[in-house]
Amino acid sequence: MYSYKTGLKAFYDLVQALEQLPSIGKKSAQKMAYTLSIENKFLGLNIAHAIENATMNVQKCQKCFGLSESEICDICLDDSRLNGELCIIANPRDIFIIEDMGEFCGRYFVLESQNDLEHIDFALLNERISSEHIEEVIFALSPSLANEAIMLYVEDKISAPIKFSKIAQGVPTGIGLDAIDQLSLSRAMSSRVKL
Ligand SMILES: [Zn+2]
Repeated sequence: MYSYKTGLKAFYDLVQALEQLPSIGKKSAQKMAYTLSIENKFLGLNIAHAIENATMNVQKCQKCFGLSESEICDICLDDSRLNGELCIIANPRDIFIIEDMGEFCGRYFVLESQNDLEHIDFALLNERISSEHIEEVIFALSPSLANEAIMLYVEDKISAPIKFSKIAQGVPTGIGLDAIDQLSLSRAMSSRVKL
């Protein structure tokens, strides 16, 4: 049977590709594909180029697992951020949120494998704590029972006698850092509590 879609393979390939993106449904994918392929071809080509560029150049920093365009990210290379504080976050995107706040001047460590604690690189974490003279590890994880357990597990695996703290009040339980407004997160960071 003839299908209208058969003659629109390129269009539907784009719709299908866009649909794979997190939080994009069929309708949004169709709207986006229409914009990119018909309404604003220039934007479409621009995005195609930006995607290609990003996939070729963006990688994870070998020290903190945050995003970087070289082996080691700018924060890990910046000696002025050696202030004895190491912030542990769940996701590389959380670095953007904390950096936007503009108050934290230490370095980061992303727990890449939160759901798979066995794969957290504790050798690297312990090596960094010692070589970067870390005195305080701050957990900026959203409050939840699972994250409480993660904090205890990580604390247990850190051999140096350092201070552990976690972000405090103003952060509702069970949601990600990206859902918290900046003022609340800023308060939570400055009034962090000892673990
Ligand atoms: Zn880094």
